[in-house]
Amino acid sequence: MRLAIAPRRLRLREPIVTAHGTVTDRELLDVLVIGADGVTGAGEAAPLPSYDGVSLDDVRAALEDCRPVLAYADGLPRERVAAACRDAAVLPQAIAAIDLALWDLEGRRRGEPVWRLLGAETASAVEVNALIGAEDPAGATAQATAARAAGFRCVKLKAGIGDDAGRLEAVRAALGPDMAIRLDANGAWNVEQALDALAVLGPAGIELVEEPVHGVAALRAVQEATELTIAMDETSVGPGALGSGAARAVCLKLTRNGGISGLLEAAAIARAAGTEVYLASTLDGPLGIAGALHAAAVLGPLRPCGLATLDAFADLDVDRALTVRDGVMHPPSGPGLGVRA
Ligand SMILES: [Mg+2]
Repeated sequence: MRLAIAPRRLRLREPIVTAHGTVTDRELLDVLVIGADGVTGAGEAAPLPSYDGVSLDDVRAALEDCRPVLAYADGLPRERVAAACRDAAVLPQAIAAIDLALWDLEGRRRGEPVWRLLGAETASAVEVNALIGAEDPAGATAQATAARAAGFRCVKLKAGIGDDAGRLEAVRAALGPDMAIRLDANGAWNVEQALDALAVLGPAGIELVEEPVHGVAALRAVQEATELTIAMDETSVGPGALGSGAARAVCLKLTRNGGISGLLEAAAIARAAGTEVYLASTLDGPLGIAGALHAAAVLGPLRPCGLATLDAFADLDVDRALTVRDGVMHPPSGPGLGVRA
């Protein structure tokens, strides 16, 4: 199999502000795996340097490590090729790109969508949340109103930046009492700060709080001291974190877990520890979002997933299969991943 790698830059409509910093545009690597039979599988690598500390050059180098493996991979089963690439490429962001491309290739060869190859019987709807990125109450109110009008039943608000209470109050007022609001502090607080903040914010009605603090011990301390559902996010990549049961829920991401196969493995580890699972993107491109939706088809039921993020890009002509309607998305039904890059 041949490997082709091409960079792609996607501009964000508006900068996204988190406790890690501000993101204004997105650089991806489009990855093609081309079989000797001419069938092509497409994947993408989506490292986010300000978030995961991994550069595009690092990922490109890791992908190059897979090139010799793929050169002798024609005729071998997907699992074997994927395993050999996992051994060759140390970065999950690179492994994710190859994993996506190999699933896409197999689906295209068999004329089946990936969700069916994974063993799902139907392409069940995946409930997704809207992201409210505005830092000021007025901007957040406008985004919350738009999310409600679009049919979302869950929104996510960044916390640990500026006036969280004012923003939350404005958003709750705009949404009414029934919609779910989740918070994401991206590890901005220590245990004491988190418990103080949650005591103030909790009464507004919070579905869950993602990564209020960083680290297994700190998350466990917060979860044990609050009735609110705490979700592990960034912490989950640390050794033993996924299976620790430290938080009631965990947010899994395709890119940092090594693709569809890695997501399913991570979910199994978390669930064995009694932890609820949901999925989110790290501002992935269309192939990463599609891959997560296919995985969701076999992982359900899940809490609302953070996969409605393609809208954040300014000039991306989003594949119709990835449209968000009434707060849900579906795994695409075409062969392979079922979408074009
Ligand atoms: Mg998060």
